[in-house]
Amino acid sequence: MLFSQSSQFPFVGWVPTNLCGTGTENKTQSSDLAQYCSIEVANSSSRSFSERDFFTAWIELCYLHLFSSDKIGKSFGAMVFVKQEQHSSNATVDQTGSSSKRRVSYFYDAEVGNYHYGQGHPMKPFRARLTHNLVINYGLYRQMDIFRPPLIPGKELTRFHSDDYINFLRLVSPDNMHDYTRQLQRFNVGEDCPVFDGLFEFCQIYTSGSIGGAQRLNQGAADVVINWSGGLHHAKKSEASGFCYVNDCVLAILELLKTHNRVLYIDIDIHHGDGVEEAFYTTNRVMTASFHKFGEFFPGTGDIADKGVGAGEGYAINYPLNDGMDDESMKSIFCPVISKIMERFQPNAIVLQCGADSLSGDRLGCFNLSIRGHADCVAFVKSFNVPTLVLGGGGYTLRNVPRCWVYETSILLDTPIQDTMPFNDYFDYYGPEHKLLLPVSNMCNLNTRQLLTERTTKVLQILDSVEIAPSVPILTGQVGTTQIPGNLLKMEDEGAGRDAQADKRQDMSGTGDAMSIAE
Ligand SMILES: [Zn+2]
Repeated sequence: MLFSQSSQFPFVGWVPTNLCGTGTENKTQSSDLAQYCSIEVANSSSRSFSERDFFTAWIELCYLHLFSSDKIGKSFGAMVFVKQEQHSSNATVDQTGSSSKRRVSYFYDAEVGNYHYGQGHPMKPFRARLTHNLVINYGLYRQMDIFRPPLIPGKELTRFHSDDYINFLRLVSPDNMHDYTRQLQRFNVGEDCPVFDGLFEFCQIYTSGSIGGAQRLNQGAADVVINWSGGLHHAKKSEASGFCYVNDCVLAILELLKTHNRVLYIDIDIHHGDGVEEAFYTTNRVMTASFHKFGEFFPGTGDIADKGVGAGEGYAINYPLNDGMDDESMKSIFCPVISKIMERFQPNAIVLQCGADSLSGDRLGCFNLSIRGHADCVAFVKSFNVPTLVLGGGGYTLRNVPRCWVYETSILLDTPIQDTMPFNDYFDYYGPEHKLLLPVSNMCNLNTRQLLTERTTKVLQILDSVEIAPSVPILTGQVGTTQIPGNLLKMEDEGAGRDAQADKRQDMSGTGDAMSIAE
């Protein structure tokens, strides 16, 4: 059964000639494998597919055929960092009615699902593997360029984070953490953000997908890039926060700023995108827009009155919300606010954080969005046809997150998928109904129409006050680094932006511990 299942995948084979034994033997292996494996190094920036990787995948596949289905996802994860040769038609009609063809790239590293925050911790990197398995079994991989990103060196992370914080993340482990008592406290690593085996590699992996995705947009090689493993929006320059250690959103935006004048960050996670807002709070090169639960809720920031300072005034947009946010309410605020942002800011690139903890029934969340309602936001952003990096984020009801993200992958590809889920390696997770879309709850929506109207009016007023499409002087002399935001340089050199934010955070410290690990 497994064999026939695997052979559904129309891959073309490749086997290193000196894998083992004689060339003749390898040819035999190659022809067998040719039925379902196509392995091609996608481009020069992709990690090469080593013989060891391939051998591991090969052995796993043989093992799977004989004994088990448990690891097939891992095998395919390892196998499917391939470039599909052609795109099937995913022509779309944008808002203006013109026809356009979206080129979608997808970044995924099978290793990401192996990291574990610890027993009982709500953050489960395994979500990315569940999502990937659905992407494969729905056949969506056929329409995307699929990449396993090269691991970025730790030094790259210090483009935003401090050297000592990154060095600490690199060195600390469950075995030696007792030697780092002072740093654990200083860098807020412990309970919500625990030390676990392979922590630093985990950070490198999810960040590599986001930076790699940004580079692909910079090259003009894709219109949309997806990295469901990314979106860890709470991490600060020298501090872990809210299950996030390295802020891949910030690092991806910095990468995009190398070739894009203005980058828009949109955040539909239920939590405020505080780490990203803080990083770009004093610049007009990046506009951040976060729609989030506010009041007695982690991280405690994101008041509507917080709109940026200095040159960044008006370029941090916060839309605070109450419990029970539903699809209709979300649509009623998201569309006018994003439309206004597009009109005033005119971004050259967008980073969209799609945290799935804003879905109904999330373990930590308290909104009531359906998967369709969540995806409507993605579809609306897509309709503007601006180069977009789509990231994951929160999402703590394990069976719902992959449903949401695979559905949003289909939306980005303009490829409808059926509600009845295909058989997949984790089929039992989705029982008993085995449906993609789920009903919402009957919880009360505490966001009244009047309240939302008032808040939308306030946000639109802020946007009316900002300069239209602010231009930025292009510095010369540094290839590819001409546009590092002034605020970041300032933060590093003088600590100015940081101090302003530290004051702001201190004000909120009373509510900053709301995200405890709830079982
Ligand atoms: Zn969240």
